Amino acid sequence: MHGWFPNMILLYMKENTMKAGRDKVHCEIIAVGTELLMGQIANTNARDIARELSSLGVGVYYQTVVGDNEKRLAEVFCQALNRSELIILTGGLGPTEDDITRETVAKVLELPLEKNKAWEEKLDEFSRRSKRPLVAMNLRQAMAPRGGRLLFNSRGTAPGIYLEAKNRIIILLPGPPREMLPMFKEQVVPLLRKKLQKEGNLGILQSKVLRIIGLGESAMAEMIRPLLENQGNPTLAPLAKRAEVHLRITAHGSSPEESGALIEAKAEEVRRILGDYIYGEDEENLEFVVANLLWEKAKTLALAESCSGGLLSHRLTNIPDSSKYFLAGLVTYSNEAKINILGVDPELIASLGAVSDEVAREMASGVRRLCHADIGLGITGIAGPGGETPGKPVGLTYIALEGDGFKFCNRYEFWGSRLDIKERASQTALNLLRLYLLGKLKAK
Ligand code: ATP
Ligand code: MG
Repeated sequence: MHGWFPNMILLYMKENTMKAGRDKVHCEIIAVGTELLMGQIANTNARDIARELSSLGVGVYYQTVVGDNEKRLAEVFCQALNRSELIILTGGLGPTEDDITRETVAKVLELPLEKNKAWEEKLDEFSRRSKRPLVAMNLRQAMAPRGGRLLFNSRGTAPGIYLEAKNRIIILLPGPPREMLPMFKEQVVPLLRKKLQKEGNLGILQSKVLRIIGLGESAMAEMIRPLLENQGNPTLAPLAKRAEVHLRITAHGSSPEESGALIEAKAEEVRRILGDYIYGEDEENLEFVVANLLWEKAKTLALAESCSGGLLSHRLTNIPDSSKYFLAGLVTYSNEAKINILGVDPELIASLGAVSDEVAREMASGVRRLCHADIGLGITGIAGPGGETPGKPVGLTYIALEGDGFKFCNRYEFWGSRLDIKERASQTALNLLRLYLLGKLKAK
């Protein structure tokens, strides 16, 4: 026993009551493996375990990655014992020298490792079938800390371990995802469900995402600051995406109905503040929302795209049945195409340039006329990185929309890479369409 073990044990012995006044179990995931630390593989196990735990209503408060090193693993495990009631470790259960999870956990908990006869026989049979001799290293896999029960591994030789010790639940799982995940779903989840139910700790964690457009992350946070500052259950988490912001509302309840009602009440508060900046929820992306509006209002659409290169057409036609309202999307990239196909006045291009308010308007109206569409939309801009001229920076984009008795055009300066600018242009155009269809866009 090394000198550093007892000190750390003292730490968690001070505070080791199971619930400690908490309304839900705190869980921590420790992924063991130097290859994870070095970035050779991604820690998909932690993600997958966390996902499963969410649906059980177990809160994951920490995820740690630690190398195949006894001292550091012991440190991390002690820390986990101090602050979490449920500790799940993955990796390092195999037969080789660097697989140290089982031994380190037993050592920190001061529990002897005991042999499991049934698993030893299984390993024995495995070695006979594969004609590989069974060595002491392999036999370690049949060992578990006293009081631990083995979790059957139908896809590999290392079983998992479920252990209750020091008022904690400790679960050891093998590293390979194809072994770990089925073991977790088929054996650990039912065990945890039973255990938590008995303790009255079982709940459900549910989330809803509100999708926001036309506001940056900080502007949105400012608007809903009182809600962000007084968080409890539910919690609110803003997340900036490339050309929109998401607000995740997460609630914990004893049933799906309870957490659902908590989420709905909070969502309503947010809706009252953010109004039309919220365009959709959960999986509904902007093209889906716009497609539904076009369908509902029975309006047809034709696009004349330049800098967005057809991205807007692509996004709208990703929605099934788009042929009902999407008439055409022309990528009129060259000046000639704008003049010859859309009928843009060559004088305008010569005097004002292809990236201008007037040309965008003529593109929208040209494609609308050409396709007999209810709505025509034109996009012209500089996607960069070259192409800048005095007064016309990279990212400068004009988007025009023409409807029945309605004309609109606006100037934007988007930023980022070429792809970012295309994405932002298409996103902004979709939002203009959305607002127009909702009757919320002012002519301009
Ligand atoms: P084995 O018996 O295969 O040695 P083990 O339980 O000892 O299993 P590790 O040696 O730590 O686990 O990892 C084995 C393999 O499992 C790794 O090479 C990697 O492919 C995968 N793996 C380990 N940990 C993770 C993780 N956290 N996320 C995703 N994959 C992982
Ligand atoms: Mg291993």
